[in-house]
Amino acid sequence: MRPNTLYIVVPCYNEEAVLPETAKRLRAKLAALTAAGQISQGSRVLFVNDGSKDGTWAIIRALHERDPVFSGVDLTRNRGHQNALLAGLMTAKDRADLVISMDADLQDDVDAVDEMVEKYHGGCDVVYGVRSARKKDTFFKRFTAEGFYRVMNALGAETVFNHADYRLMSKAALEGLAQFREVNLFLRGIVPLVGYTTATVEYERGERFAGESKYPLKKMLAFAMEGITSLSTKPLRWITGLGFLIFLVSIGMLISFIVKWALGMTVVGWASVVCSVWAIGGLILLSLGVIGEYIGKIYLETKGRPRFLIREVLDQEK
Ligand code: UDP
Ligand code: MG
Repeated sequence: MRPNTLYIVVPCYNEEAVLPETAKRLRAKLAALTAAGQISQGSRVLFVNDGSKDGTWAIIRALHERDPVFSGVDLTRNRGHQNALLAGLMTAKDRADLVISMDADLQDDVDAVDEMVEKYHGGCDVVYGVRSARKKDTFFKRFTAEGFYRVMNALGAETVFNHADYRLMSKAALEGLAQFREVNLFLRGIVPLVGYTTATVEYERGERFAGESKYPLKKMLAFAMEGITSLSTKPLRWITGLGFLIFLVSIGMLISFIVKWALGMTVVGWASVVCSVWAIGGLILLSLGVIGEYIGKIYLETKGRPRFLIREVLDQEK
């Protein structure tokens, strides 16, 4: 069996309403898995306090003092879900063999952990939790969320459909993730780039257990924008395409005006003005796109992403 110290990483922002219940359920889950011999005694629940303004950290501290199965990481201020999650993952990486990330609000079905751990023992390094249905989401949330995955994929970001941040990663996969040095962080788009053997586990996403969503529409839109711009430079390419198209239209106009002029059907002065407006507009967009193309390259370079990650080296010891 593979080494099996499990850390469950839970980012928390103003979650005092749900934390006690989350802690109880996760502890029960760890106890059951330990009893079944699936994970080791040293497994933990790691809460990351993302600069909460309420009593979240006090609760985490109390939990830790009562029971060492609970650990905590306290961030200096609110850095947002993705950064909090990364802080947790990077802390857990050096202590655990497998790490599962999960939201604090119990929307992710805790029982899916069993299947994830099973897949890990079966040789998978990354296991994605995928929502089977969104029955409990409002129409608006479902529509926007599913549209988001479609747009992301159309833009060339390889994300797993209907997968949020409920996933298992092995130590090796986390070591790989640690080599992605980008500051604009969108984990869902980066984890697939890490590679390794992956699998998915379906689960039904429930409603928030208590408290309210920390992702209002404004944050959701910012998150979507971040995802698109940090993973892909396709929008820049679209500008180039648009510029080219508009330039073509201007040429088409020119030809049709010449034909009409030959037939004596034009108003004097109008054609030349319209043609040049379109031609110049098209050329400007086209040049912007070309400049953007280079900026895109620079942008991707500055991320300093690893060009490859090695899974294993076969080499005879001397
Ligand atoms: N979260 C966080 N920092 C933030 C916002 C949210 O750590 O700035 C955490 C939050 O505590 C929760 C998870 O991210 O564990 C998902 O947030 P939420 O459930 O509010 O999002 P929703 O499910 O409504 O999309
Ligand atoms: Mg939630």
